[in-house]
Amino acid sequence: SLPVVAIVGRPNVGKSTIFNRLAGERIAIVEDQPGITRDRIYSRSEWNGREFHLIDTGGLEFGEQDEMMDHIRNQAELAIEEADVIVFVVDGRQGITGTDEEVARMLHRTNKPVIVMANKIDDIKYADNVYEFYQLGFEHVIAVSSIHGTGTGDLLDEVVRHF
Ligand code: GDP
Ligand code: MG
Repeated sequence: SLPVVAIVGRPNVGKSTIFNRLAGERIAIVEDQPGITRDRIYSRSEWNGREFHLIDTGGLEFGEQDEMMDHIRNQAELAIEEADVIVFVVDGRQGITGTDEEVARMLHRTNKPVIVMANKIDDIKYADNVYEFYQLGFEHVIAVSSIHGTGTGDLLDEVVRHF
């Protein structure tokens, strides 16, 4: 079976935007375990001839803080269980938030590769923003603009390196 790449992160960082940019063919997933519904969208994608499945674990976003944290915890657990590589999306303009730190703590519990994607770096003037995200404790931080598509090649090069 193909390697699985999961996109995780708090709401509004751009998970769905990067998913849509990288998505090839959409795959409908039928839950085989009654009572277990996990919000996720799958796609089959390819980079430099390497095929993989991409999962957007974002699903529905919630307004209430405690519901949001439960949801993010489920996302992180899903990614840790199912993914071969995890793309942890953060807002490269806003900087590290408390929720990002919580997600980081959850993702540090796995030995799977985690690549931090500092999104919304739409302009070269924001390029230095990436450095603060090394504080999250992961080896790789890649600057991306999901809207413009810049940095996605560097991101995917790093992703497929771990297959
Ligand atoms: P999600 O909640 O993590 O799935 O985030 P979305 O993909 O829904 O994006 C949240 C908001 O951020 C939307 O208004 C997007 O248009 C915006 N956004 C996403 N990527 C970028 C980007 O690279 N640059 C900018 N400026 N905005 C972005
Ligand atoms: Mg989303």
